[in-house]
Amino acid sequence: MSEGGFYDVVIVGGGPGGLSAGVYAMRAGLKTVIIEKAVAGGQVAMSDSVENYLGFELISGYDLSQKFLEHVKSYGTEIIQEEVVAVEPGLEHHSVRLANDQVLKTHTVILATGGSPRKLRVPGERTYYGKGVSYCGVCDGFFFREKTVVVVGGGDTAAEEALYLAKLAKQVYLVHRRDALRASMILQQRVKDECKIEVLWNTIVTEIKANDQGVQAVSLQDTQTGEQRELSTDGVFIFIGFIPNNHLVPAGIKMNADGYVVTNEKCETNMPGIYVIGDLREKYARQIVIAAADGCTAALVAAYYVEMKKSGEAVCELPEDLLQEAQ
Ligand code: NAP
Repeated sequence: MSEGGFYDVVIVGGGPGGLSAGVYAMRAGLKTVIIEKAVAGGQVAMSDSVENYLGFELISGYDLSQKFLEHVKSYGTEIIQEEVVAVEPGLEHHSVRLANDQVLKTHTVILATGGSPRKLRVPGERTYYGKGVSYCGVCDGFFFREKTVVVVGGGDTAAEEALYLAKLAKQVYLVHRRDALRASMILQQRVKDECKIEVLWNTIVTEIKANDQGVQAVSLQDTQTGEQRELSTDGVFIFIGFIPNNHLVPAGIKMNADGYVVTNEKCETNMPGIYVIGDLREKYARQIVIAAADGCTAALVAAYYVEMKKSGEAVCELPEDLLQEAQ
């Protein structure tokens, strides 16, 4: 273990929430570090296009995340590219342990680790990941130019990705388990208008079949009749929601049944000085703008907490229900 410095705030995760928290924390004068193990921007960086972030009618996810990154860097924010392996709460300070064995001490931690694609859990999915099975159209769509692909899911992500893949592929089958898409009406209409997309309603994928050349077909099942059939395809793109990356949430912090952290409107958890923002937090909608807003809230609340702590005043500002759980 090596000493990695003492911070006012350690932000774990460099998506829109974490980067926004970084901007506000720096502006509040906090000694701040953002730790991101992969690319800054998180899931957004992998989106083909973003059309609903205020001020940008249309921008690629990568470009938007670069703008976020440039903004936070303009304040001289320290960014460490490393994996965090543990967040260890303490009474005097919290500790954030990195994979390189460094331990950062900090008054506050903002957890912004987002979520990961949910898996279908069918035979072939894991084996052929990277050989025709993908969770990212922008990353892998290029390999399927003028080919046939299956997109699984019925939400906004599946609809957006199907539309993106339709620009490249010869044919896109959108396989959805129900008879209505969950995606927003505007995306549903676009899917309907795209002649290269055929929606296979009330259908699930039960197996992904491949040979040395990669994915060849999927086995499908009609959820109403039970009828089985095979559909030839060159690729399978899976967008069936995501699961929260909650493995760094310290024991004792309250989560709901789906693994999302329960916070109050200030993004406070039931542990003083530990905040959770963005897609990891239980909330109504998961959007870039909401993650960014969470980052602002948590940084401002953390700044107040740090100021009170340094002045020696009591800082337990948690509301009664969260406070009881913290004790
Ligand atoms: P989602 O809204 O949770 O949708 C997941 C879809 O996958 C649902 O249609 C669901 O079917 C289906 N599904 C789940 N498990 C399945 C399984 N085991 N087998 C087959 N199908 C399964 O997830 P998302 O589309 O990734 O969106 C996540 C959040 O991000 C949402 O809040 C969404 O609005 C937001 N988002 C917004 C935008 C945008 O505004 N531009 C873009 C992307 C994402 P059922 O419908 O039957 O449950």
